[in-house]
Amino acid sequence: MPTGLIFDIKKFAVHDGPGIRTTVFMKGCPLRCAWCHNPESWKREPEILFYEQRCIGCEKCFEACPSGALRIEDGKRAYDRDRCRHCYACVDVCYAEATIKCGREVTVEDVMAEVEKDRPFYEHSGGGMTVSGGEPMMQEAFVFSLMKRAKETGIHTALDTSGYVRWEVLARFQEVTDLFLYDLKLVDEARHRTYTGVSNRGILDNLKKLSGAGASLMIRMPIVPGYTDGEADVEAAGRYLSSLDGDRIRVQLLPYHRLAESKYERLEDVYPLKEVPAPPKERMERLRELLSGYDLDASVGG
Ligand code: SF4
Ligand code: SF4
Repeated sequence: MPTGLIFDIKKFAVHDGPGIRTTVFMKGCPLRCAWCHNPESWKREPEILFYEQRCIGCEKCFEACPSGALRIEDGKRAYDRDRCRHCYACVDVCYAEATIKCGREVTVEDVMAEVEKDRPFYEHSGGGMTVSGGEPMMQEAFVFSLMKRAKETGIHTALDTSGYVRWEVLARFQEVTDLFLYDLKLVDEARHRTYTGVSNRGILDNLKKLSGAGASLMIRMPIVPGYTDGEADVEAAGRYLSSLDGDRIRVQLLPYHRLAESKYERLEDVYPLKEVPAPPKERMERLRELLSGYDLDASVGG
């Protein structure tokens, strides 16, 4: 049985598919979206998070580090990622839990034990389990086994994916996925490449094939002022989505928020969208109306 590397399991999630859900966050992502709100998901291996407010300045982590990756600069803790050997000695000695390891290896049984605890909530709310990330398909063998197990035990399964994966892999997941939460960031290929680091050709092709195959889909579009909120971009998405086969397509517009800022601080990284505000409600409603004009079932998500 394959094992998986996760960075979180979120209970009582209400924005990751229908009803009350348990969301499993996988590590690893091939995209680098400028507005990413889960930067701790990017690397396929565990990494160090630093909670500055918890630090009591005992300096034990500096003493424990065998590679000189931790030192004091201008009276503050400095972490040299390139020198880090990922031995986690600093985590072991930090009793204040200011330095922690992000990333935990788990089995299907480990995750299912957590997911099973909330089965009564799924049954009452029409919820279930969602696998998210990162990009879950980077750990396809583990995620397939996990979703297969959940489905076999009668738990509704949703897969939150960027769609940036070979079609053969995605096609196989239809067997174990009740609902695909499919990200659509931009239809314009050049700007998609600029803001996410990858082409969207395969993503759009996969979406066409999934809808043609009759998969249950919820398209999710992040609305980020100055990046993805242009009316021309939203209309291009509307035209593309309305050309797909299958039932009336459901689209959820997700307003950008700045809650991830502290995550970048914990990774001792720079938050790239400091100046970008959350889109006003009226703007979200205007974009929702535009999409509805393409005979899409459009809504604004949380
Ligand atoms: S061991 Fe923890 S509490 Fe002590 S200095 Fe390092 S990060 Fe701060
Ligand atoms: S994981 Fe090991 S090498 Fe990296 S900073 Fe911590 S003690 Fe140093």
